[in-house]
Amino acid sequence: MVKTISVSQIEQTVHEAHEIYSKNLNGKNADYIPYLAHIGSDLFGISVCLTNGRTIEVGDSRYKFGIESVSKVHTAILVLRQYGADKLLSMIGADATGLPFNSIFAILLENDHPSTPLVNAGAIAACSMVQPTGNSEKKWEAIVNNITLLSGSAPELIDELYRSESDTNFNNRSIAWLLKNYNRIYDEPSLSLDLYTRQCSLGITAEQLSVCGATIANKGLNPKTGIQVFEAAFAPKITSLIATVGFYEHTGDWLYSSGIPAKSGVGGGIMGVLPGIMGIAAFAPPIDEAGNSVKAQLAIKYIMNKLGLSVFSGDSVSITA
Ligand code: GLN
Repeated sequence: MVKTISVSQIEQTVHEAHEIYSKNLNGKNADYIPYLAHIGSDLFGISVCLTNGRTIEVGDSRYKFGIESVSKVHTAILVLRQYGADKLLSMIGADATGLPFNSIFAILLENDHPSTPLVNAGAIAACSMVQPTGNSEKKWEAIVNNITLLSGSAPELIDELYRSESDTNFNNRSIAWLLKNYNRIYDEPSLSLDLYTRQCSLGITAEQLSVCGATIANKGLNPKTGIQVFEAAFAPKITSLIATVGFYEHTGDWLYSSGIPAKSGVGGGIMGVLPGIMGIAAFAPPIDEAGNSVKAQLAIKYIMNKLGLSVFSGDSVSITA
């Protein structure tokens, strides 16, 4: 079936979602990273970027928040660009863990690889794979440059968040060294962990995440800049990773109820990818017990359901002006 939706319908729905959920008080800012506990709990922004480059924004869509685990998607794309799809599968993997994002147990259960670049273990392994091996500054440049290309504009390191997270990331230090024990990390563990911590501390906006989502939805062609950031063939690979584990142990419930593959971060951001149609991002700091933003989840679900969109519908969607 061909489904026709107008831009004004999308605009109206995005505004409705913001209006309905802005008063929701559920969830709580992440506090295991001290910086995140102090971010305004009522910040709330939504941005949709269509694959033709048109953006629809409401609320705090230009507020720079900690990208946190959403950055795992960006660096997985960098690994795809540098190594190709087969190596990502053999060196990291693409399996859901069904366990929390920082699970150590998950590392012990997988006997051949860290499982997926979208949980902490696999994301630290992905940072270890970034070329050139051993050169922290050049690797960092590659990570930031890749995020800039995907987002259409540069992210900005939030120094205070980086310090806060570096001072308290004991669990992630254990993960990095456990990976070393199992030969599943491909550069020096402390260097790899530091890159991971730094990338999580980048400030990003909902607008930038929606452009990145749209770039994935648009087969690697950034609709804002016109730059082909990655090979079109990688788009379904990255979307499948997001669909499988984007919400950790709640991924199935999320996909079932929202119809859109999306990745969350404890900074309160969520980035969704609807192939061929749009990227969508929402940001609101209070998160649930699995680390996923409460308001951002509600807003994206509302928009998808109200517009009757789902990655599984089989509909081809035409968006009219
Ligand atoms: N930097 C955070 C951590 O490693 C990211 C977690 C997340 O956003 N789910 O704990």
